[in-house]
Amino acid sequence: MDTKTSTAKLLVGSQWIDSANKDVATAVYNPSTGEIIANTPAGSAADVDAAVAAAVAAFPEWAETPVVVRARVMFAYRELMAKHFDELARLVTREHGKTYGEARAEVQRGLEMVEFATSVPVMLAGDTFPEIAESVDGETNRHPLGVCVGITPYNFPNMVPLWMFPIAITCGNTFILKPSEKVPLSAIRLTELLLEAGLPEGVMNLVHGGKTVVDALLRHDDVAAVSFVGSTSVAKYVYEVGTTAGKRVQAAGGAKNHLIIMPDADMDQSAKALAASAFGCAGQRCMAGSVALAVGSAGDPLLDRLVDFAGKMNVAPTDANDASEMGPVITADHRDRVAGYLDTAEKVGAKVVLDGRKVDAGDSFLLGPSVVDQVTTDMPLWKEEIFGPVLSVVRADSLQQALSIGKTCPYGNGASIFTSDGYAARTFKRHFNAGMIGINVGVPAPMAWLPFTGWNQSFFGDLHIQGSEGVHFYTRQKMTLTRWFESTTESHHDPVWNQG
Ligand code: NAD
Repeated sequence: MDTKTSTAKLLVGSQWIDSANKDVATAVYNPSTGEIIANTPAGSAADVDAAVAAAVAAFPEWAETPVVVRARVMFAYRELMAKHFDELARLVTREHGKTYGEARAEVQRGLEMVEFATSVPVMLAGDTFPEIAESVDGETNRHPLGVCVGITPYNFPNMVPLWMFPIAITCGNTFILKPSEKVPLSAIRLTELLLEAGLPEGVMNLVHGGKTVVDALLRHDDVAAVSFVGSTSVAKYVYEVGTTAGKRVQAAGGAKNHLIIMPDADMDQSAKALAASAFGCAGQRCMAGSVALAVGSAGDPLLDRLVDFAGKMNVAPTDANDASEMGPVITADHRDRVAGYLDTAEKVGAKVVLDGRKVDAGDSFLLGPSVVDQVTTDMPLWKEEIFGPVLSVVRADSLQQALSIGKTCPYGNGASIFTSDGYAARTFKRHFNAGMIGINVGVPAPMAWLPFTGWNQSFFGDLHIQGSEGVHFYTRQKMTLTRWFESTTESHHDPVWNQG
């Protein structure tokens, strides 16, 4: 689409159409310049009805298409994504604001999801159990669910939609994507390329909007399953409403990820990894390290290096500047919300040792990296997901105290330890209260082949996104027992395949 001033279109069946609702819900910004580059329609229940009808109509034929043929569309799609790699990354930078390097890393992760989806045929093979009882053979196999829905957040406009539809579609489902209204352009381009890869009409559909559209999808009788990624409050809502309406739901929520630094850690490497974890994508990652738990004497040497390292980052608009090391946050409102935590930090007894508010933002939504020391677990800085470039430093006396702090955290996405002590690493791995663990790794986010195993309020559901759990989420099993009786009729001795 011409993104300059146009309103995002929906894909229903094979048609790119306008929403039935002419209201504009959201302006799409280029966060590097503050300019409006497109608009997202508010959307409506009528849009949802049309998209679901197209997906329902396409399902029977697609489900009956051999899985190896379905997978071939993903092979073609992977090649198209690779061909358009730079363009897709530029689009992410333009509508989201992350650096071009970060956008390329995002597209690479998304492309790996498509590569994973090409292996779905192997993963649909079931178990066989010959002679499970006398003359009885048992087997299981997996079947698609029907119409599946994906609802995605703003922070990975390319990758998070790709966590969902390549697996769902290759498993034989049809799909409706509802991207974040703040970043609809990458979703549109990804969908265009999917059609170019040869996907039949109606298998993939795209709708836009906010709560009204999400509610219509969650309650629609013909929707079988919903994948959601976003903030915890909405994830919980989507899970409750969706499961009450009888849908299968996986809903990934927000996070507060802890990075534990032991006194024996390599401080230079750890400080670099912490800065990359906390300030990469301007802190807008659900796997960003947002709390440094400095154990014992680790605090001061770590802080010196961290402030030195982060203070030298090239914080600049990203759109026309590939040298930028840290870009803006998504909107001016979000920048002000994040800065609000720094405004109150000193009042509640914390100490801002690196102040990102001092950056020269111009018209952009830039905010520099901030480090806040002396944070305690009763402060909003520790309790709430800030989702911006702010690292809170909490001092702990021991690893045991760090583990106890982790136990009281309501979230549970990721956590990492930095140490040269295998015993401390093993204790941390076994006992820290989070679903994804890093050992001397700043962002322990799994690649496509492993599940994204958030715990606590970071995930609602049973089967996680990605990996084999993703395939299980988008399919249901059938078990068959087979017994054949020996024929007593003459035809047994002259079977049909011998006749003529
Ligand atoms: P968000 O919850 O505001 O929006 C996510 C989606 O929900 C969007 O498509 C939006 O249109 C829709 N939505 C928003 N409010 C709604 C409502 N009241 N009712 C129904 N639908 C609604 O999240 P965001 O700000 O776009 O993204 C950032 C959040 O996503 C952060 O909390 C981040 O931690 C989280 N996130 C989590 C993961 C993960 O894997 N756990 C990954 C990426 C992002």
